[in-house]
Amino acid sequence: MGSWASGVVNGGISFWYADDGLPAVREPLAGDASADVVIVGGGYTGLWTAYYLKKAAPFLRITVLEQRFCGYGASGRNGGWLYNGIAGRDRYATVHGHEAAVRLQRAMNETVDEVVRVTEAEGIEADIHKGGVLEVARTPAQLARLKDFHAHELVYGEKDRELYGARETAVRIRIAGAVGSTWTPHGARVHPVKLVKGLAAAVEALGVVIHESTPVTEIRPRHAVTPYGTVRASYVLRCTEGFTASLKGQKRTWLPMNSSMIATEPLSAQQWEAVGWDGRETLGDMAHAYMYAQRTADGRIALGGRGVPYRFGSRTDHDGRTQEETVEALREILVDFFPALAGVRIEHAWSGVLGVPRDWCATVTLDRSTGLGWAGGYVGSGVATTNLAGRTLRDLVQLDSGQGGRTELTDLPWVGHKVRKWEPEPLRWLGVQGMYATYRAADRREAVRHSAGSSRLARVADRVAGRH
Ligand SMILES: Cc1cc2nc3c(=O)[nH]c(=O)nc-3n(C[C@H](O)[C@H](O)[C@H](O)COP(=O)(O)OP(=O)(O)OC[C@H]3O[C@@H](n4cnc5c(N)ncnc54)[C@H](O)[C@@H]3O)c2cc1C
Repeated sequence: MGSWASGVVNGGISFWYADDGLPAVREPLAGDASADVVIVGGGYTGLWTAYYLKKAAPFLRITVLEQRFCGYGASGRNGGWLYNGIAGRDRYATVHGHEAAVRLQRAMNETVDEVVRVTEAEGIEADIHKGGVLEVARTPAQLARLKDFHAHELVYGEKDRELYGARETAVRIRIAGAVGSTWTPHGARVHPVKLVKGLAAAVEALGVVIHESTPVTEIRPRHAVTPYGTVRASYVLRCTEGFTASLKGQKRTWLPMNSSMIATEPLSAQQWEAVGWDGRETLGDMAHAYMYAQRTADGRIALGGRGVPYRFGSRTDHDGRTQEETVEALREILVDFFPALAGVRIEHAWSGVLGVPRDWCATVTLDRSTGLGWAGGYVGSGVATTNLAGRTLRDLVQLDSGQGGRTELTDLPWVGHKVRKWEPEPLRWLGVQGMYATYRAADRREAVRHSAGSSRLARVADRVAGRH
């Protein structure tokens, strides 16, 4: 490893915590308790749900149980793309019809603005910059996929999406070898930890009880069991996303997929001159093993991608530590995109887990007979989707308890979706390793070939993964 590696902080949850400070941990549960609604997990899903429910029905006694501290999971580690993507939309179109999927997409577009609205209303300063989302192509095959993707998004009602050639792309950002890009206004950069901390404080200020350092070991109808006591409630909402496999009976529900990131030192004015990126769009590419990045408020690049995608037995990382070869692979992507940054220091590397359902479709559900609810399976598009999930869980609880009727949100096609479980080990591990090795091979093949067709390898991997 080169000199760039000296002094890299690896883990420590994430760069965002190094930047904004770890929170003081709230008191754990002190014994058996009761509530109207108990929420398991203090990430964006759990906190948005608590926020909207308490706002709608201030009399509700709501308790959040969090194993470590709010924002310990993906919500405190992500790339800060607050954008309108939702996992599973195309499948929902196939199953429920095009019009239903257009409604879902419209709800997602509005969700980006809703998050911005609430942060302003609650005084949450989260470095939000609504510069949209820019996705670039760097090979003929990626360009063909980019054009298909662009056309596909227009079909779902994104009339304001734009397609750029190489020259127009370079005006926005100077990426080596970029041959085109697509831009949508429905996205914003956010500081993930400032958002989650602000949200937890807002929820607590409304009167929601939050217990931290309180792992839930089992969820049963009307019970959330912890080592310190059991909370009984009419509704128990599971908001544990990538950690769900650690709950009793949930080992094969959602696969914990790993995603890793690096953050550079702050770039100099000269380096920014070379890079461009004045619009501060969130940035991604069209590779099969894609990258995602943001220009941070303090002038760094935070960039992520898939490292080692999955740990045997659905295990998760230790406080965000990631493998050294992943750090090196991400740095190589950074320098490949921006050769002028070859000597730039990497200050921080970390990883986290996101939840992947067997059919790659995000869901939100409330089972009316048991009072058990859950939301997740966002497959890496959860920063905005969690907000839609929170508002939808609010409406489902209101509907079930007779406080409200059906709403636009309860009628969205991702509500109540059922999916089969993942295969047992070692098939699960073999399948995911194989899929990502295939994506990387497909990217390499496309980079050296000059044809516009996507590598057949990637299509095979998609089929094996259950994505199409
Ligand atoms: C590295 C990385 C980058 C990402 N980048 C983006 C991005 O740029 N844009 C985007 O849209 N999405 C991104 N995602 C995905 C996004 O961050 C997640 O979809 C979203 O944060 C999920 O929120 P959540 O609240 O459902 O889950 P989490 O934030 O994971 O929260 C779950 C919480 O539950 C707690 N918990 C788990 N088990 C228990 C238990 N048994 N008892 C009590 N508490 C428990 C955890 O400690 C955690 O705090 C990224 C994810 C990762 C890992």
